[in-house]
Formats: sequence, structure tokens, C-alpha cells
Amino acid sequence: MTKTLPRACCRSVAANAASDGDTLVNISDVSTLDIGCFTYKVRELNDYRDEEGCILMGSTDVANNVISIDTSYNEEVVRETLLHELMHALLNDTHVVDEEVEEKLVRVLSPKLMDTCKRNPALVEFLFHREVHTNDKKRKRS
Ligand SMILES: [Zn+2]
Repeated sequence: MTKTLPRACCRSVAANAASDGDTLVNISDVSTLDIGCFTYKVRELNDYRDEEGCILMGSTDVANNVISIDTSYNEEVVRETLLHELMHALLNDTHVVDEEVEEKLVRVLSPKLMDTCKRNPALVEFLFHREVHTNDKKRKRS
């Protein structure tokens, strides 16, 4: 079996680094994520860089099921980075696109999906919370 190398997403984000007034996000509630048939560990890092010193906001290691997120950026950036890495994990082993195209696809879709969800809270409620409530009712009946 061929293992896919960890996927690193290197983005220049100096302008988005958290400043004194920013709220730093706590991602401990999502320290593990069930993605497809795998459980990924979400690792928080600060000043995350690759071996060459390139700034990394996040990465997805599909060989070891680890998503790494630099949480030293402002909340909005951290949330979008987690969604970005989640999308990489979802696309893992689909063989729909090669890695270069996947990165472009994720970079385009992740911020647009995040923005659409932010601007349409009723959509998010409809897509996710309704199902949760429905499942709760089903559980109570049985
Ligand atoms: Zn990426």
C-alpha cells in the first residue's frame, strides 16, 4: 500500500497574525474528528513551520490521521484553516484530483464555504441542527 505523504499548506499570512485585541480560539472541543472512516487527531501548534522554515497555518497528515493547526492566528483564520484541512482529509484517497489541483480546489472552496455558512446561519441550522434534534426525538421514542 502506498502511503500518501503528509500534506502541508504553506500560506503567507503575516497580516492575519493575531494581535493583542484578538480572541485566540480554543479548538479543544474538536481535538478529534471522525472524517470518512478515520478518526483524526487535531493538534494545536504555535509558530508552526516546516523543515525549511516555511510558515504553516495547518497541515493534514493522511498517513497518520493528524491535522495540525497553528492556533496563534486570529479566530477567523484558525477556523478557516481547520475547515481547509478538513477538506483535505475528506478528499484523501478519493483520487478525484491530483494534489496540486486539490490544493487549488480547497483554497477556493474552503473560504467560500465558510463565508456562506457565516452569512446564512439559518442554512447551517437547517443542515445540521435539525438533524441533531430529529435524532434526539428518535432516541427518546425507542
Ligand atoms: Zn491545503
